[in-house]
Amino acid sequence: MPEQALLEQVVDKVRPLLGQGKVADYIPALASVDPNKIGIAVTTIDGTTIGAGDYLEPFSIQSISKVFSLTMALTLYEENEIWSRVGKEPSGQSFNSLVQVELERGLPRNPFINAGALVISDLIQSRLGAPKHRMLESIRHLSGNQKLISDKVVANSEYEHSARNAAIAYLMKSFGNFNNDVDTVLRSYFHSCAIRMSCADLSKAMLYLANRGKNLTGKQLISPVQTRQMNALLATSGLYDGAGEFAYRVGMPGKSGVGGGIIAVIPGDMSVCVWSPELDLNGNSLAGTAALEEFCQRLGRSIF
Ligand code: GLN
Repeated sequence: MPEQALLEQVVDKVRPLLGQGKVADYIPALASVDPNKIGIAVTTIDGTTIGAGDYLEPFSIQSISKVFSLTMALTLYEENEIWSRVGKEPSGQSFNSLVQVELERGLPRNPFINAGALVISDLIQSRLGAPKHRMLESIRHLSGNQKLISDKVVANSEYEHSARNAAIAYLMKSFGNFNNDVDTVLRSYFHSCAIRMSCADLSKAMLYLANRGKNLTGKQLISPVQTRQMNALLATSGLYDGAGEFAYRVGMPGKSGVGGGIIAVIPGDMSVCVWSPELDLNGNSLAGTAALEEFCQRLGRSIF
């Protein structure tokens, strides 16, 4: 199990990388984030959380929310109802590419690119009365932090710049793979992306992925088999077009967001979250990836 000192060493080691990436600038609310941040937190399956650097500071979770959404969908639907609407294959394109939608049936390649996450949000919309509220409540419960909020400025700014995501949703609607009003689903999707959490919150919330589906309070959220399947999808598709590089360097199932956060798990042992806002060319945190690489090397761990 990692020690506090190891986390401090990881942060010190990667700090010189700050300044080498680029903060997401597709919306003004994200472009104004302080780039000089780096944090790491680890939650082990006994429920202990430790951290170093800026690990208590909340940031925009963005696409990390796609893990929570898929988990929610798994609790609401039978497996085939989900996988008849979205694929399980890694992508070779950017996260917001229209080419991710297979053009015979309108199926997105996987649930972690925007197209797939929008279908998952559409599924949730069809089953839940107040999806925004329910998602936030569930994430608050998972992290044990009742104070979590969704940043209205970020969510509204996403909505004002939503042409691409709307185009993806309408493309899928044209194939009959989108049932609800596009605007309503976009609003819910952006609301989840705009939730603010710290590395400590996220490592706690993701513990179920390391603990055969059991959350921080010991409740079975999804089954052990579903957890294994989720981790397989994260290992192959969680880092967009950088999934291969991430497997090679880090060797853990993981999910990144353009806010600079990355969550990763060592099944059976721990969940980890790193945050540093500057991104590499694939849209993954540059120093965050390096921190996870350093962490796994020092610990001598990898799923491979
Ligand atoms: N809200 C972002 C979008 O839909 C999320 C993208 C991401 O984190 N990769 O464009």
